[in-house]
Amino acid sequence: MRRVPRHSHYVPLGELWRELTSWYSWQPDATFEKVPIRLQPPPGKRLLVIDATDTGELVSWAGIPHRLGSESRRLTGERNAPEKSNPECTQAFTYPFAIAIHDDRGKSLNALAQVKPGYARAEHRQEYSLQGFPMFLGRSFFNYRRIVSTAAGDVFESMPAPGDITLINWNRGNDWGWMNPSLVLTDEQLAKSGQLQNWLGGLSLDALKNGEKHALLFAEWLLEKQSDLDLPLTYLTGANSPMGTVSGLSMIPYFREGRRILGRQAYGQTQFMMREADLGVEPGTKRRDFSATAIARVHYSIDIHGCRYRNWEPSQEATSAALDEYDVQPTPIPLESLIPQGVDNLLIGGKSLAVSHIVNAVTRTHYSEWSIGAAAGATAGWLLKHAPANLSPAEIVPQHQIVPLQQYLTNQGLRPQ
Ligand SMILES: Cc1cc2nc3c(=O)[nH]c(=O)nc-3n(C[C@H](O)[C@H](O)[C@H](O)COP(=O)(O)OP(=O)(O)OC[C@H]3O[C@@H](n4cnc5c(N)ncnc54)[C@H](O)[C@@H]3O)c2cc1C
Repeated sequence: MRRVPRHSHYVPLGELWRELTSWYSWQPDATFEKVPIRLQPPPGKRLLVIDATDTGELVSWAGIPHRLGSESRRLTGERNAPEKSNPECTQAFTYPFAIAIHDDRGKSLNALAQVKPGYARAEHRQEYSLQGFPMFLGRSFFNYRRIVSTAAGDVFESMPAPGDITLINWNRGNDWGWMNPSLVLTDEQLAKSGQLQNWLGGLSLDALKNGEKHALLFAEWLLEKQSDLDLPLTYLTGANSPMGTVSGLSMIPYFREGRRILGRQAYGQTQFMMREADLGVEPGTKRRDFSATAIARVHYSIDIHGCRYRNWEPSQEATSAALDEYDVQPTPIPLESLIPQGVDNLLIGGKSLAVSHIVNAVTRTHYSEWSIGAAAGATAGWLLKHAPANLSPAEIVPQHQIVPLQQYLTNQGLRPQ
């Protein structure tokens, strides 16, 4: 469904929990015309589909075998996996927003004071902290993600000046990892929610709403506690603000984790999935060698933004897996991690590939997702244009076509090895 705003001056609300129902509805409304889109191959040609959504939405909607949340040590054999699996425990999600050094005479702070959260303000506020970083000086909170710098100087270190803008994406700030309720609905929750009939992304609107309020209250806390007489802070909203929304929040949050497919039989597993040991983080342990079928290479920290319950019941988060990028080896991504079970014309092009909850903490980031997406796109192009007729993704390895594919990826400027 394509939504076409009726008015040229349309500005998204930036309240996803409120907007989502209309986004998915086939019915036109006061804000949008709705144009149905049908995806189909040209006559006589076949269709290859890539799920590059940030939550693995097609995977869930189409009932493709997948995992959700954290997996137990018994299930994956990972040394830092928790005792029990918890499908509710996906990583925290974040609504970014922007603040500027500007004196708006308390206008944006007054507006933020009107925000009414579901949980008490004080409960949200307990979570906020600059974690020991100065607000403005040197390697500061403001400079961490400064996006507009009006004065000359090192953007990472120089003192911010009036007119400067920073984007807020802060662990002890706008991250929302509470699982009361959790964000991505489990199969059971989906069945109860009615979303199998009226799909809303398979997400909890209440969780989205709580995440939004948490971000807005962090903005309020920042303006109230961190403004300086010489460096007053303004929360930016509206069409001309960096987020371009009425609320000042991003249209959708940073979903760090969604559904992750289970691959087919490969590398000694009946249901292939990359695991913690495949990141080369266990000294003395033999890492599986994926180079024979590698289509991309990724590298990042095991960066876990944890889940938790409001009352600190055991979350089953893999907290102890967190590791700096210097201790994680560059990791080949095998083709098998992009190929789901049960459907022959689908590839994964983002973070929903066959990885464990712990490995997702590496593959959920920019370089990884783009490398995986580029490899998925190029593989689809190669299958349609250069591969033996009607070869499916799952047949590439058994039909000894992986070397020509890797060669093609290299010719495209990608790095399969
Ligand atoms: C605030 C923030 C900070 C970040 N910081 C870092 C960082 O420091 N380092 C780093 O490496 N990475 C970081 N990232 C992550 C990085 O931005 C992502 O990994 C990267 O942008 C992913 O790109 P992508 O194109 O694969 O997916 P995305 O950019 O997530 O795109 C997915 C697209 O799918 C669309 N979509 C979803 N559902 C549907 C549907 N049903 N139908 C049609 N379309 C749909 C979405 O609208 C979206 O456009 C950060 C992200 C954010 C938001």
